[in-house]
Amino acid sequence: MNVATELPEVPHNRLTTGQEEVLAVSDVIKSGRWAAGKVLAELESNLARTAGVAHAVGVGSGIGALRLSLLASDVGAGDAVAVPAYSCVALANAVLACGAKPIPVEVEPGTWNISVAALKATLEQHPRLKVAIAVHTFGAIAPIREIEELGLSVIEDCSHAFGRAPFGCQGRMAMLSLYATKLLGAGEGGMILTQDEILADWLRQARDYSDQAPMAWRLNDKMTDLEAAIARCQLARLPQSLSARAALAQRYSELLKPHAGEGGFELPLDQTGRVWYRYAVAVSGDAEETISRMRAFGINAARPVERWCEPDFPNSSAAFQHLVSLPLYPTLTAAEQDRVVSAFLASVLPMVHA
Ligand SMILES: *Cc1c(COP(=O)(O)O)cnc(C)c1O
Repeated sequence: MNVATELPEVPHNRLTTGQEEVLAVSDVIKSGRWAAGKVLAELESNLARTAGVAHAVGVGSGIGALRLSLLASDVGAGDAVAVPAYSCVALANAVLACGAKPIPVEVEPGTWNISVAALKATLEQHPRLKVAIAVHTFGAIAPIREIEELGLSVIEDCSHAFGRAPFGCQGRMAMLSLYATKLLGAGEGGMILTQDEILADWLRQARDYSDQAPMAWRLNDKMTDLEAAIARCQLARLPQSLSARAALAQRYSELLKPHAGEGGFELPLDQTGRVWYRYAVAVSGDAEETISRMRAFGINAARPVERWCEPDFPNSSAAFQHLVSLPLYPTLTAAEQDRVVSAFLASVLPMVHA
């Protein structure tokens, strides 16, 4: 324990960054074109190409991307929008900002993604439901096509999973957050992806109020070229980041699997084709207990999603209560990972590993 506390803490998030970001931002600063410049346009075309769609529209935040996507889907006062009950509160806030009502829907155990069966039942109770937001939670593939087959328009939230098929190209519209600690970090920022040119044109005029008629939705949702410069470097590094994350996740599973039979926790689902944005383990006790015990070893684990509703659904409630996210980022070293694993085991199985 003494030895552990003398070592530097292992943070829950650590940004992957290099000289590329420093130079790219410095170039934008020197260019004198800090907003609405060519770096944003380049980021948009690189992101669209990566997703395999025709258009990408950069905005100021993930929540802005959601709000504009909802408005573009004709969501307004009196409408209902389905959101996973286990999700970031930003989804509900974006729905409320449009004057609509967020309807929490139960998630599937393991993927923690919105459940198609639960969504189907919700649809029968809420005839004004026309849009669903589906998150690829922690990188597990959400059932976008199946939701569309229910007759709903889907906004695919790729904040946790991007960089290869099927992410970002399955539905009419996809978005991602470029907040600092997301898969692609820019500080703040968001992106909307679509094949539809008319939709893309609408989004471009909606993000900017300049020289346009007064309109409630024109709240200045633009992204700066400084942020775009960072995001462009992060995007160029994404293939290596995804491989590094996958290798670390596999190593976590190898190290933890022998102890899974001792009870106390369940490993995350190793779904084929998924992205490893978070490595979220389901502990049998309350997540907070494990997190605070691990902190005593200098390891920062976290509740991956903060509770924003009291869902009357067993899987969503269990996710809020029991999921613990272990540090997972490309620069996590094997030595750090070993420390995470021993601190985790000592915290969930103290009788065996103390
Ligand atoms: C972070 C996040 C958002 C909100 O994005 P901001 O950029 O913080 O506004 C939306 N959806 C998901 C899945 C997120 O992780």
